[in-house]
Amino acid sequence: EIWIFNSGIVLFFLIFYSGVMLKMITDSEKQLIDIAHTDRLTGLYNRHFMITKLETAVSDDRESFLAMADIDYFKKINDTYGHNAGDYILVNIARIMKEVCKDSEIARWGGEEFLILTDGNAEKDGKALLERLRTTIEKEDFNFEGQHIKVTLTSGIASDAGGRTVDQWVGEADEKIYIGKKNGRSRVILINEGET
Ligand code: GH3
Ligand code: MG
Ligand code: MG
Repeated sequence: EIWIFNSGIVLFFLIFYSGVMLKMITDSEKQLIDIAHTDRLTGLYNRHFMITKLETAVSDDRESFLAMADIDYFKKINDTYGHNAGDYILVNIARIMKEVCKDSEIARWGGEEFLILTDGNAEKDGKALLERLRTTIEKEDFNFEGQHIKVTLTSGIASDAGGRTVDQWVGEADEKIYIGKKNGRSRVILINEGET
């Protein structure tokens, strides 16, 4: 019978198109979530999303360490080479961070400040990881529109949160940056004042 055949066709297309529509909706939902979690300039996690990652890290019992990294004399880079050059440096530092710290969760925490959250032990793994990041950036020849720019990074590492709050944990990494800046910049501070 022709009417059965016709309704079969109609039904087929109805099911087919609702499948397509559903896929489009879930895809664009995923894209929106991604955008909400990402820093626009660098593609790293944004501060808001990183806070949720940090909350998870302080509440579970896997060992992890938290590093904060701050670009040295970044204001001077902007003043000397221009704001676009500064943005270019931020994008490329983020790229290097993703390469060197592949197994870490990395966020742009503020203008030229980054947080790197990694599973493992601060003494055993953290120091080496952040040193590798520091030397890679120090060696890099950033080339913006023919201008060669040298950049260094100072970072502070806080060992496993172990009962501290997110604010305390981030605060500890931040305090170590302050020590690193005071002691000449381009260094990694893990424990004691003056340690590189
Ligand atoms: P220090 O070595 O002590 O860290 O000095 P600094 O100059 O890096 O630090 P300071 O906090 O004085 O300056 C940070 C500068 O970062 C100031 C601000 O204009 C710049 N900055 C923040 N966000 C952005 C951005 O998205 N793009 C660019 N180009 N510059 C930014
Ligand atoms: Mg800063
Ligand atoms: Mg700085």
